[in-house]
Amino acid sequence: MILLDGFKVASERNLALRTVIDQEVEKYGRAPHLAIILVGENPASMSYVKGKGKACEVAGIKHKLHALLEDVKQSEVERLIQQLNEDPSVDGMILQLPLPKHLDENHLIDLISKDKDADGFHVINQGNLYQKRPTIHPATPKGIMTLLNAYAIPISGAHAVIVGRSNIVGFPVARLLMDQGATITVCHRQTKDLRSHTLSADILVVASGKPNLVTGDMVKPGSVVIDVGVNRVDGKLVGDVDFEAAKNIAAYITPVPKGVGPMTINALLENTHELYLSHILNQRFSK
Ligand code: NAP
Repeated sequence: MILLDGFKVASERNLALRTVIDQEVEKYGRAPHLAIILVGENPASMSYVKGKGKACEVAGIKHKLHALLEDVKQSEVERLIQQLNEDPSVDGMILQLPLPKHLDENHLIDLISKDKDADGFHVINQGNLYQKRPTIHPATPKGIMTLLNAYAIPISGAHAVIVGRSNIVGFPVARLLMDQGATITVCHRQTKDLRSHTLSADILVVASGKPNLVTGDMVKPGSVVIDVGVNRVDGKLVGDVDFEAAKNIAAYITPVPKGVGPMTINALLENTHELYLSHILNQRFSK
């Protein structure tokens, strides 16, 4: 079994990005800038935001945290997003999810300018993705594709089974895998006999948020297993796949933590850099 070391691949890519950004700062006079909006004090969200900030520092991306109180009004979040949309020094913006229940998540995500949508969640960017037009890709699916490509895993012709159909992971990763030539099966809670599907997967992507949903007997021998899940069980982080059982059956598998998580952050940084370059070039052409 080969461990798909997301931490190593992401760290190398973040450092490589740093080299590029250092040269661009010389050339264009400023670094990329990511604004991070955090509402409330959800411990997992606070830890993700901290990780994103640290990675920005490694890559030479300026980042600013905009921390709002748990009971913040919808109008106040809207005002902040509008302000960041209008600020020419901001290249990318993310709204850390989940949000408190009283906030309208979809409305707020769509308020973020599609040209500053570092997470690739905006409805127009997602529409572009589904129509195979150039766009910012959602961070986790993009990170998964980068990881598969880093290990030269053949995708074209493979049967990829995705467990989960969310807008931020399952559905877009299915689209990206299909674009690279995989044949796709997408499973969800109404799927009958999940095991019969997972057992036929050359590439199995599990993004259900259910600890150990995929057991060893659900994994095809010699397959590639990508575990997106992040669950805290008895104070320990675990994925959606029973890693100890699956690692003896799969040819490649991601660990949790240090698998998909760091690749998601790397993709976020690369998206921010992409947005920065398009802003710099637009500013130059409009002069
Ligand atoms: P989500 O919006 O809750 O979606 C979960 C999906 O899994 C849904 O489509 C759901 O089906 C499906 N599902 C749940 N239980 C199932 C079951 N028993 N059998 C088959 N399908 C089942 O979650 P998400 O935002 O996609 O996130 C999924 C997991 O990935 C979570 O653990 C999250 O923390 C993690 N995550 C990790 C990263 C990272 O960077 N590592 C990034 C994002 C998310 P229905 O549609 O039928 O409800």
